[in-house]
Amino acid sequence: MKSKLIINWELSLICNLDCSFCSQKERRSKSSSILKLENIYNIIDNLPKNSHLSFLWWETFLFPNILDIFNKLENSEITYEITTNWILLDKYLDKLNNLKNLSQINISIDWYWEFHDNSRWKKWLFISLKKVIPKLNEIKKVSVSTVISSELENTNLIKLHLWLDSIWILEHKLIYMMNFSKNDVNDSKKIINSLQVWLPWKENNNNSELIKDYLEKLSIIRKLKTNTKIIVEPLALFKKWSLSCKQLDKQLRINENWKLSICEFITNNFNDLSKIKIEEAIKNDDYLKLKRSILNNFPLNICKYCCKLYNK
Ligand code: SF4
Ligand code: SF4
Repeated sequence: MKSKLIINWELSLICNLDCSFCSQKERRSKSSSILKLENIYNIIDNLPKNSHLSFLWWETFLFPNILDIFNKLENSEITYEITTNWILLDKYLDKLNNLKNLSQINISIDWYWEFHDNSRWKKWLFISLKKVIPKLNEIKKVSVSTVISSELENTNLIKLHLWLDSIWILEHKLIYMMNFSKNDVNDSKKIINSLQVWLPWKENNNNSELIKDYLEKLSIIRKLKTNTKIIVEPLALFKKWSLSCKQLDKQLRINENWKLSICEFITNNFNDLSKIKIEEAIKNDDYLKLKRSILNNFPLNICKYCCKLYNK
């Protein structure tokens, strides 16, 4: 069987939360455009049959006509997964069961109980989450991701992981928090002048301290010996041999303006994918040139701590 072409797609920048740690607030306020259904259908029609779409960032379920989009995919061979903050999951639960091409639901949970609600400025959110996730887990494969920040207390992480284990969540991803400084951006731009970079919210973090903290948390969680599998992301941050970028080598990205793009941090964008087949768009000279320069100079300073790092 032909292997799947993984395409990460930011359908829009809309979100129903306003998390204190959100790295994309400013970007969100700059663009609230929503792609017309007709253009989305055109993009889907322009994808190869062996595509696997990953709808991520923002809140996919807030997108108007999201069920129409899923139904369009159900009538194709394209498979898909969703990353969501779960708030609207309750509303969609009974509909998800019938979506056979929907292979996985990824949920971001960075804190447990009141810490979780405080960071999202909403009380009682975690209580609703506690009700909905076990129900969801009965009908779809659920993966939970936690971004490991230095503010996350060990006891809070332990409680979160033990709760996931108690409700039979199969996979808990512990993600190293992406961060780079303005200097990293400037140094990367000296190497590639045309680079356009979106800067995440934290700057000038001491990565050696953060990595130490990450490893300590990882070892605490591993000692719990739960049934929930722990996924370290990126593993290549800790075990390096031949570093490269998963997004560049193995995946494609569509941005919120339906254009072929590089990644969530490098925002240069190229052809409008509602007008051209993706197989043609990836032959665009400017796109190929930029990808090649990033890979030839890999890792750029902005790439050094990214969750997309992998060992070739
Ligand atoms: S749910 Fe995600 S995109 Fe929405 S505000 Fe929170 S961190 Fe930002
Ligand atoms: S490693 Fe670099 S190119 Fe790849 S996703 Fe991260 S920032 Fe982008």
